[in-house]
Amino acid sequence: MLTVTPVPAFSDNYLWLAHGNDAGRALVVDPGDARAVVDALAGAGMALEVILVTHHHPDHVGGVADLVARTGARVYGPAREQVPAPFTPVRGGDAVELPSMQLRFDVIDVPGHTAGHVAYYGHGVVFCGDTLFSAGCGRLFEGTPEQMLASLDALAALPDDTRVYCAHEYTLANLRFAMTVEPENPDLRAWQQEAASLRARDVPTIPTTIGREKRLNPFLRARVAGVRRAAEAHAGASLASPVAVFAEIRRWKDGFR
Ligand code: ZN
Ligand code: FE
Repeated sequence: MLTVTPVPAFSDNYLWLAHGNDAGRALVVDPGDARAVVDALAGAGMALEVILVTHHHPDHVGGVADLVARTGARVYGPAREQVPAPFTPVRGGDAVELPSMQLRFDVIDVPGHTAGHVAYYGHGVVFCGDTLFSAGCGRLFEGTPEQMLASLDALAALPDDTRVYCAHEYTLANLRFAMTVEPENPDLRAWQQEAASLRARDVPTIPTTIGREKRLNPFLRARVAGVRRAAEAHAGASLASPVAVFAEIRRWKDGFR
């Protein structure tokens, strides 16, 4: 069993603190800020054993070196990226085995936001960093639309009840865009109302689930006729492939205010 709790940091990051059956042994995913993690560990009476890194951006690795110095935690990170501490490099197809915590995660390659971005899947949970957000996806800083669509397809292939722990609370802003693409999607309206009520009470909208995201996330729906029509209307041209539809939606969102 895996228990996951959010450690909010910066303006909209979640650093995910998790443990297995032994609640005293913790792992943290993408600790951009050491202070927030140290406080959360102290408050919960946990010892940090493991750090999982999805990609190299500072809001995800900024606290790694300090946490390693304070706790001696072991670090796993993407084989094709830099992490500011010694780390065990992992790539798609690898497994992260954590016997002392009775946990195990499969590594999935999800390039697109960055060139070497990885996700960690296990115990019904996926930690996907800045690849898949609720109703959105990461910007393409280092990858191509082809790569990102393949990465999102790999995540969408996980079981529908998989809980998705992404690294940012972007849900409401993403939903505004998604409803522009698919105004008639009833799942979008329902999630918008629920998410707005959660945020009004300062409750995270994360985790979401793979099943929900398949029903409403435009970036997982490039093959849906209505999404394709909306992308074509925005492009003013017909779009021949799901990659072309995806690329147009990503461009559209990049300029959306
Ligand atoms: Zn990032
Ligand atoms: Fe980020």
